[in-house]
Amino acid sequence: MTDIGFNFETTYTNLPQEFYTELKVSPSSAPEAVVINNVLGDSISLNLSILTDEELANLFSGNRLPAGVKTFSQAYAGHQFGHFTMLGDGRAHLLGEHITPQNIRLDLQFKGSGRTPYSRGGDGKAALGPMLREYLISEAMHFLGIPTTRSLAVIKTGDSVVRESVLPGAILTRVASSHIRVGTFEFAIQQRNPGAIQVLLDYTLDRHFSEVKSQNKPLGLIQAVMEKQVDLIVHWMRVGFIHGVMNTDNMSLAGETIDYGPCAFMDAYDPKTVFSSIDHLGRYSYMNQPKIAQWNLARFAETLLTLIDKDLNKSVELAEELINKFPEVYQEKWLNMMRSKLGLFQAHESDVQLVSDLLDWMVDNNADYTNTFRSLSQLEKPNSELYKGEKFQKWYRRWQNRLQKNSESIESSIDLMKSRNPAVIPRNHKVEEALESANNGNLKPFEDLVSILKEPYTDRAALAAYKNPLKPGATDYKTFCGT
Ligand code: AMP
Ligand code: MG
Repeated sequence: MTDIGFNFETTYTNLPQEFYTELKVSPSSAPEAVVINNVLGDSISLNLSILTDEELANLFSGNRLPAGVKTFSQAYAGHQFGHFTMLGDGRAHLLGEHITPQNIRLDLQFKGSGRTPYSRGGDGKAALGPMLREYLISEAMHFLGIPTTRSLAVIKTGDSVVRESVLPGAILTRVASSHIRVGTFEFAIQQRNPGAIQVLLDYTLDRHFSEVKSQNKPLGLIQAVMEKQVDLIVHWMRVGFIHGVMNTDNMSLAGETIDYGPCAFMDAYDPKTVFSSIDHLGRYSYMNQPKIAQWNLARFAETLLTLIDKDLNKSVELAEELINKFPEVYQEKWLNMMRSKLGLFQAHESDVQLVSDLLDWMVDNNADYTNTFRSLSQLEKPNSELYKGEKFQKWYRRWQNRLQKNSESIESSIDLMKSRNPAVIPRNHKVEEALESANNGNLKPFEDLVSILKEPYTDRAALAAYKNPLKPGATDYKTFCGT
């Protein structure tokens, strides 16, 4: 195969044998490239543009792999909707860790590439729609400035996948800082090998947190993971992103958004919003995301108790002390994020009230989360019907008074707001439209949407068709895992 710059140095398979299984991907009968992310390829020094369509299809189906690559699937466990289960990559194969010339280590992984020892009842496959959905939303997240895994390619396998109907099969190539999850640690402590957890701790510190110099390594790791998670959730809350399946196996220790299943962006602001059709109790609703991140961190900390201190009670006490700080750390970062969405520099005591009064007004008026903040990100007062009421007018005056207290200019506030409040997000009906078209063989709407979402903070005429929800104020959109 033509050398396009792969530079693999795979350390994950130096972990004890139980952490992974080496196995080949299932062959695809007639692979065909659907989307290739040349820009991402370039940015990680993979020269995809020199390959023919046939070569791309063979590469990203795994039918022809780069020399020396031995694919493997990872073992992990996880709490799914609160219940512990042994899991693992049921339909994913890692190619290995590609090292960029800037010395960045990235996992390359196929998703939808066949059955593995961890498939349980599943067929190991993925359908085209959900893989394109992951491509679209993960790329949108990246351009919104949110840590995320990336998508390098989607190919059609030429084989069918049976779900509620017969669908075209596909494989996504995912690029991630790593696939170490809370669930990997939960798996490690289930092993007979008592050293497994220590090995994984050292590996994770070395791979992601070499700056952690804490005397107590497990506590240092929990702290570092907590900080990354807080930052990530604050980003999600900023743009109205609802992950939908915040199981511990879907929480990456590298702090990236991972596993785009039933996720979606909120239209009308309602903190109770849930999109996932299987989340009946609203466990993973918009407003619960910080609480769930903390809950997941507690499951993470539990796996490290034997390493924190010889005295288990002491370990529990130290871990609890740390994790109990989550709400406070989160609240402060969340408030600062909300300040930036309102162009507020410095901190004033009244800010919490100002923010919560706006959010309450949004709930009462079914106001669109994205468009309301973007409408405020300008010098002129928004003047559409929605904003005419006395309540909003009063709030607006308070906000203007608060802006006066900034030591920065009003222009600086607007600039800040425009960099935090997207003008466009992947609207649910636009995503559906693009995927439906792609399923029918027309990729144009998908490509157009991907392209629009590359510049979410810049107003331009082309956004007109992408800015509004299908039905203003509607909150009845449903998403499906699509596995
Ligand atoms: P997810 O909800 O995508 O994080 O998946 C949860 C678990 O189910 C993971 O272990 C997946 O690898 C596995 N899984 C999902 N879909 C399939 C499938 N079609 N075949 C086999 N395993 C699957
Ligand atoms: Mg998962």
